[in-house]
Amino acid sequence: MGARILIVEDEEALTLLLRYNLEAEGYEVGAVARGDDADSRLKEDVPDLVILDWMLPGLSGIEICRRLRARAETRTLPIIMLTARGEESERIRGLGTGADDYIVKPFSVPELVARVGALLRRASPERMANQLNYGDIELDREKKRVSRAGRPIELGPTEFRLLEFLLERPGRVFSRAQLLDGVWGSDVYIDDRTVDVHVGRLRKALNHGSAADPIRTVRGSGYALDDRFGRTA
Ligand code: CA
Repeated sequence: MGARILIVEDEEALTLLLRYNLEAEGYEVGAVARGDDADSRLKEDVPDLVILDWMLPGLSGIEICRRLRARAETRTLPIIMLTARGEESERIRGLGTGADDYIVKPFSVPELVARVGALLRRASPERMANQLNYGDIELDREKKRVSRAGRPIELGPTEFRLLEFLLERPGRVFSRAQLLDGVWGSDVYIDDRTVDVHVGRLRKALNHGSAADPIRTVRGSGYALDDRFGRTA
């Protein structure tokens, strides 16, 4: 599954261009045109990377950036800031907004796409790794094998993808709708309860005997890989 990118940009033509090129690279792309809308959306749903324009209606990119850095869930969220020539990009750097990268408009789209890839690799090397580890759980993407404390675990293809998705983002809470999007794909229409069924099967397979449950049910929200599990196991 490709990383999820949110574009916050009020120039519609640029948003379309970026969306087209990023989707061609396999990313899942969302877009918002107003700063205040971006602020509320980012409180509900955290993507893997944000492309953030500086000058926006509603709320400036700099203010959004500050708010993201002030919240624990988004403190390390990769941010690429877009600035127009004449908007004194050097001054923006000096403001210490906490963006990871800055690009001055007009820019070349391939360059932006390359920087997105570089930033994502830096931010989460586990996304690229063949082997994912968490506590005593190991998942090998190439060999399609899972083990816990050295004991091989048999998983169906859906449970395997579900575990892979959770292992890529330990600790983060996902709603059933987000899991459906990420594991089954956004063009598939199945009931939210299907997620519960597969989480149940995954748990049963992983928690053979009395091993601690690595999956946390967050009431009213969804599921997460328990971050305490990764530390103590
Ligand atoms: Ca703008």
